[in-house]
Order: sequence, then structure tokens, then C-alpha cells
Amino acid sequence: MTDRIRKFLRRRRDEGPCLVVDLEVVRENYLAFAKALPDTRVFYAVKANPAPEVLKLIADMGSCFDTASIGEIELVLAAGATADRISFGNTIKKEKDIARAYEIGVRLFAADSEAEVEKIARAAPGSKVFCRILCDGSGAEWPLSRKFGCVPEMAPRVLELAHRLGLVAHGISFHVGSQQNDPKAWDRALATAGAIFRDMSERGINLSMVNLGGGFPAKYLKEVPKVQVYGRAIFKALRKHFGNRIPETIIEPGRGLVGDAGMIEAEVVLISKKSDDDNVRWVYLDIGKFGGLAETMEEAIRYPIRTPKDGDETAPCIIAGPTCDSADVLYEKTPYPLPVSLEIGDKVLIEACGAYTTTYSSVAFNGFPPLKSYVI
Ligand SMILES: *Cc1c(COP(=O)(O)O)cnc(C)c1O
Repeated sequence: MTDRIRKFLRRRRDEGPCLVVDLEVVRENYLAFAKALPDTRVFYAVKANPAPEVLKLIADMGSCFDTASIGEIELVLAAGATADRISFGNTIKKEKDIARAYEIGVRLFAADSEAEVEKIARAAPGSKVFCRILCDGSGAEWPLSRKFGCVPEMAPRVLELAHRLGLVAHGISFHVGSQQNDPKAWDRALATAGAIFRDMSERGINLSMVNLGGGFPAKYLKEVPKVQVYGRAIFKALRKHFGNRIPETIIEPGRGLVGDAGMIEAEVVLISKKSDDDNVRWVYLDIGKFGGLAETMEEAIRYPIRTPKDGDETAPCIIAGPTCDSADVLYEKTPYPLPVSLEIGDKVLIEACGAYTTTYSSVAFNGFPPLKSYVI
């Protein structure tokens, strides 16, 4: 944890759990991406953390933005970026939102079906379209399943239709799964992308861009490879599958850019047992799945938790949130070791919470306010 966050929390007077994001860490992470992938443009995945200060910082540093809605597009514009630095990367868009984005000046759109291409052709004529292909997501702790992307065999048809309808068949995109621990995951996807590029060129259409997606990890409990390792693996895969005709590339980091820049301070509300001979304690915090820690779903993301009693003897605990929904349990299948000396009222620090927390927190479930956020 950064000293800046520690200092901020010491001075904090208000109540309740809060996220604190350190912009200096975001800045360092952005520079690390720029250095690890020097020929690749960064399109920050806004959904990871749309705090205006974060958007403004990286907009000033030259970042582009991957957005999923008109709301996100407006946030990016308010942060000072122009529409030509925005990609409307959601493959599921209402036609009226495509039209609105076009009116604003956005000219880069994602699709993974012919029906979506038809909408884009009607509402955003002449724009660039890239086709998202399915990726198996193995090696990722938060795999993105089959919701986005089409099978690779379908991509040429989607892109050919785009071309026929007067759009620019721009390229291919994929996402190797979020919190992807294997830098080689890009190799499989780039092999497929390379094959689609060749197929398209035989049809007389030259694609020019590969969108390498996100997936770059934040450090939770386990060590993860550094972004340079990802950069090298990706460059090697590009060489292997595109030879010396490497296309324009973009990346869409979310978690990798802001995950480790933020930390949540929470409080222990109750420590109890369900029976006298229970050997696992229940530790209830004032934040849970509905307060922003939604990525603990199926215990996928395991956050590091610091307590004021660290160093003392530990015992396994079930950690749960404060709401009256029985799904509001963070870690139970794999209990979490916490100090035996931990007490009600202790403050705990949940690390690497900069991504996918504030916007997941509910509006007022059980009357709990949404997660507070400070950017320093
Ligand atoms: C969410 C998302 C990202 C960011 O993914 P991370 O794993 O957080 O880097 C990138 N691209 C698209 C299209 C996304 O939906």
C-alpha cells in the first residue's frame, strides 16, 4: 500500500467503507504499459474505474478510451478527450446509442454479429468496425465466457458484410479473459487473428488493426508476471503470426491499469460462531458483494486483506458482508486466514481494489449507501 493512501486514511474523519485511489500508481502503470508495448495505443477500459480524476489523468497522458455506453462516452469527453480517441467497444448496442455516438464524433465500433453490423451501417455510416472473436479464457481468474465474440469462422462474414454496407472492415478484437495470468494466452488468439487477416485478404479486403483487449492482471495474493513480460510475449506472437506485416495494435487494459492503485478501508462489524464447537469463525465486514466487492462471486478474485493484528497467529474465517442477502458471503468455500486477535471495530484494508468496485456497488440495498471513493 502506498504511503499516500496510508496518510490519507489516517486523516479521514467520515464513516463507512471507502475506496482510495492513488493517481501516482495509475500514472506509473500507464507509463509501464506505454513502455512495454511501445507501438500499441492504450484504450483504457472505462468500466474498470470511471472516476473523473482517473480519466482526466490518463486523457492528459494521451490515452484513448474503450467505452460501453453513452454514459461512459460522456464521462470521457468531460475528462477532456476528443471523440476520435473513443472506441464504442460493446458488441451489444441500441441503434439509437450508436447514432448518438456517431453524432458526438465516435467512428470506431465493435460488432460480433451481422445484425450489429447492420445497425452500425445504418446509424454510423462509413465508420470503422472491428469484429470480436471468442476466446476460451483459460488461464484467467475472471474468464469472460461466451457472451462476447463470434466463432472465428464467422468473423470474415461479419467483416465482409461491414465492407459491403460501406463501413470500413478495420480488424479483429478479442479478450483473453480478465486477470489473465498466462502471457502466452495472446499467442492462441493472435494465431486465429492472423488466419482471419489472410482469409480476408483473399477476399480482397485488407484488415489493418488487432485489438488485443485487456486481461493484464493486478497483483492480488499471488505474484503475477510484470507487464514487460506480457509485452514481450505479445510482440513475439505478433511476429510469429503476422511476420513482418505486423498490423496496427491497441490494448484495452482496465484492471492492469487501476487495480493495484486503490485500496478499500472497511471495518469489522461482528465476529461470531454458529455453534460452540464451530472451528471456523464468521467475520462480518461493513462491505460485501453489494457494497462493491462483486468480483468475489464464486470466490474468483481473492483480495489481500491487511489487519492491525497482522503477524499474530491466524485461523481460517468465513468472511461476509453486512447485508441481509444470504449471497453476501465473500469467502467460504476456501476460508480466509485472519488473526485470532482480530476484534469487532478493527479497521481492515482490502488491497488492489482500484478496479471493478465502486461501479458495482449497489445504490442502497438494505439502506447502505454506495461505496465512497476518494482519488488522491
Ligand atoms: C472489460 C473489458 C476490458 C478490460 O479488461 P481487463 O481485464 O480489466 O483489462 C477490455 N476490453 C473490453 C472489450 C472489455 O469489455
